[in-house]
Amino acid sequence: FPADRIRNFCIIAHIDHGKSTLADRLLEMTGAIAKTDKNKQVLDKLQVERERGITVKAQTASLFYSHEGQQYLLNLIDTPGHVDFNYEVSRSLAACQGVLLIVDANQGIQAQTVANFYLAFEAQLPIIPVINKIDLKNADPDRVEAQIETVFDIPTEECIRISAKLGTNVEKVLQAVVDRIPPPVMSTDSPFKALVFDSNFDHYRGVVANIAVFGGQVRKGDKIVSAHLGKTYEVNELGLLRPDEYPTQRLFAGQVGYIIAGMKDVKEAQIGDTLHLQEQPVEPLPGFKPAKAMVFAGMYPVDQSEYIGLRSAIERLTLNDSSVSVQRDSSLALGAGWRLGFLGLLHMEVFNQRLEQEYNASVIVTAPTVPYKAVLSSAKLIKSCRAVQKNMVYIDDQRVMMKYLFPLNEIVVDFYDLLKSISSGYASFDYENSGYQTADLIKMDILLNGRPVEELTTIVHRQRAYNTGKAMCERLKDSIPRQMFEIAVQAAIGSKVIARETIKAYRKNVLAKCYGGDITRKMKLLKKQAEGKKKMRRIGNIDVPKDVFISVLKRK
Ligand code: GDP
Ligand code: MG
Repeated sequence: FPADRIRNFCIIAHIDHGKSTLADRLLEMTGAIAKTDKNKQVLDKLQVERERGITVKAQTASLFYSHEGQQYLLNLIDTPGHVDFNYEVSRSLAACQGVLLIVDANQGIQAQTVANFYLAFEAQLPIIPVINKIDLKNADPDRVEAQIETVFDIPTEECIRISAKLGTNVEKVLQAVVDRIPPPVMSTDSPFKALVFDSNFDHYRGVVANIAVFGGQVRKGDKIVSAHLGKTYEVNELGLLRPDEYPTQRLFAGQVGYIIAGMKDVKEAQIGDTLHLQEQPVEPLPGFKPAKAMVFAGMYPVDQSEYIGLRSAIERLTLNDSSVSVQRDSSLALGAGWRLGFLGLLHMEVFNQRLEQEYNASVIVTAPTVPYKAVLSSAKLIKSCRAVQKNMVYIDDQRVMMKYLFPLNEIVVDFYDLLKSISSGYASFDYENSGYQTADLIKMDILLNGRPVEELTTIVHRQRAYNTGKAMCERLKDSIPRQMFEIAVQAAIGSKVIARETIKAYRKNVLAKCYGGDITRKMKLLKKQAEGKKKMRRIGNIDVPKDVFISVLKRK
């Protein structure tokens, strides 16, 4: 394919504005998948994505498109919209020369629309605004076009109005991609040079790297070098993603595809790394800023005998999601485990769900915390206001964008859910890090029958300690099942108990129902009980359900 007939583009948008649905239509129209009414977000391949209806991993698909008698190769990268996955978006942008910015014709510009716009704008990429869902009864594309002009300074004439669901005007989107996005400027004559922008671990084939070829070409059997480690590999297989793997003989400059080169160790395929031919060294590409973890949590095997298995599952999954930071850790109650850093709470929940679904691992996750810097001084006297307004911009007469400075620990657990519910779903939210601030914080312990539960220790603002402690005790009381003895649930600051709840004793004997000899029924019940226990964590002699460690921190 000549480079001038290649287009590499991303679809970016606020969550639920229709990226994956538009991708479905584009795949159908270019014959990559058959046209049926069953195609729903086909690029969302992970089980967690299907269940939650969100895109977590950016996905790649090569489309062949005929326009005015010419064949074009369009490489589409679908991206996740949620705040926690911004990192995936910036990585995808590095492999593109333009973006489709989707905005819902009813909801208009939302927080992630703004955040994603700036990612593309800073990368100096042409932006094609697409107003989606014009089929909705209360769609107001005029208002949304006006917002786009006010906030992003993009003339209204550049907007394309579509319904991704019905396919209305989607052809215009393909034409705009060809007309408004430039082809990649790179030559097939120069030495081979490719950016690793994503990678997966396959149990049978080892590392499968997604690459964008920036120069030259690579063939099966070529000897390639990873600039990061300086190691040499032989290319076993390569090809396009349409969206399934489609092996080819070569990959050229301007193409996006996958490569398998006998990388066996998960650490060998660094995202952001440059690949080149053994005999033709090149200047490495700039790579990526490492993602900064904002939320930390401990992860432990439910049973220490599963430690090795869980370790390899975490290693493989972090290869697939390199924004997760991993450190070994151990806890008195939970044994050996890890302290993992995530970009946000959703990111953490998704990671945990993927461990369980894709690697069959059973994990205990401790309460998430945010990084603090402790300063030893007697004057932590400064009363800090918990949120400071920074600025306010009117998007139109009905919508306003406000910027606040927040302590991260206030937003990490459930701020987003709360905001959505108090604004009946109208408000949306995005954040970036603005550094450390001084605050009057104290450490609060939770005790079960007098024994501190390390995993539930939290850092709270002094003025919030009483209410938070009380709420946590109440919630623990609701979520820990009754056991054969009474349990005291207490919140304490130092040696001072500030809240208490009691869980009454209860005797549960699953075999009581098995009169006499029905052995199969007895076995079945015992198995059921064992499975129930698996989701429990034993602290001292108390069984605590695994999910309590997170749910207990959520506000009502
Ligand atoms: P994403 O989060 O941006 O990938 O959004 P999805 O493609 O998953 O779409 C979110 C929801 O909006 C789904 O329920 C879609 O069926 C729906 N949707 C997408 N495009 C349209 C459209 O053009 N019209 C209508 N009525 N609904 C749409
Ligand atoms: Mg999606």
